[in-house]
Amino acid sequence: MTRAHAAPAAAAVIAGRRLELLDKARVYACGITPYDVTHLGHSATFVWVDALARTLRFLGVKPEVCRNITDVDDVLDAAARRAGSSYDVFAAIQQFQFDQDMAALHVRPPEHEPRAHRYVEQVIRLASGLLDAGAAYVSRGSVYFRGQGAEGRAGLDRAAALRLSAECGGRPDDPAKDDPLDVAVWQAGEPGHPAWQSPWGPGRPGWHAECAAMAMSVFGPAVDVHAGGADLRFPHHAYHAAMAEVFTGVRPYARAWFHAGTVTVDGAKMAKSAGNLVLVGKLLATYPPAAVRLMILDRPWGQPWDYRPALLETAANRLDELHRAAGRTAAGRAAGDSAAAGELRRLLATELDVGAALDLAIETGGAAARTLASVLGLN
Ligand SMILES: [Zn+2]
Repeated sequence: MTRAHAAPAAAAVIAGRRLELLDKARVYACGITPYDVTHLGHSATFVWVDALARTLRFLGVKPEVCRNITDVDDVLDAAARRAGSSYDVFAAIQQFQFDQDMAALHVRPPEHEPRAHRYVEQVIRLASGLLDAGAAYVSRGSVYFRGQGAEGRAGLDRAAALRLSAECGGRPDDPAKDDPLDVAVWQAGEPGHPAWQSPWGPGRPGWHAECAAMAMSVFGPAVDVHAGGADLRFPHHAYHAAMAEVFTGVRPYARAWFHAGTVTVDGAKMAKSAGNLVLVGKLLATYPPAAVRLMILDRPWGQPWDYRPALLETAANRLDELHRAAGRTAAGRAAGDSAAAGELRRLLATELDVGAALDLAIETGGAAARTLASVLGLN
């Protein structure tokens, strides 16, 4: 006797790649460097990762999200020094505020939340492995990963790669390097920074190596989706993936990349120095969390966008429409409900098309609208 199973396929299309999934999905999201308040730009990335995880659950897959905390970082060290605090105490305070913002935005806590300072041993092991593989070298107490080819992985020419590397604290002009695009897996100790013992002398982990070590420690050699803000594409993600692939021999390290579009204000990047930070707490003082979430999600996930207060008003109106549609009765429409549910599934599974899913849910009403509100955390 045979029994028919009608389990639908659980596949998602992300950044043009079709991911067949069985049971679990490993999602690594590059988390915050807790040196300053989180703004709308950071929050948008983590709301999108949350929407991705919720969508995977809707598709019948168990998402396992790992969102790290980069608490060993040169920028953080400088901010802690200015505040007269040690790096770890300073980071813990900033992280507390971040957690409050995430909770207010209904972002579910990740399953794993590794902190860089607890993975120093793993970074030392990673550095040793890269040295053994001939992909790294020791110079003046640092271990450098040979960066050749990392720019090609990101589709950049050398000039653009050098510019981005300098902007991200990659020290391309460091005379200890063989090549400006090499990056520190292990950085020799310097005054004003925390230091740990290593086979190469006292020092601290490099940024990309920290994430590679945390991701591999939590998930093993590969992940299903690697997520983060679009500005992390290069150098951070390109080097993370390159180091992981050399270390494990498993390629590709990530089956798909999920780079959330950058948020600007009046066309400018959000920065404390520019005085244009849009803080989530401030938005939530005037609008419900679901409206802020909807403003972030009602657009293609990978596209950059410009924040204007009018967008919140539009999102609040759209949310009202969705809630009104959810309240409509759908008597005698069982067949229609099931067709709409299937279509919602297809739209969200294909590049998380929240905009089209919302249009459908508002038009159809009833169960479709209730389902979408619940899947996306818009209740
Ligand atoms: Zn990272």
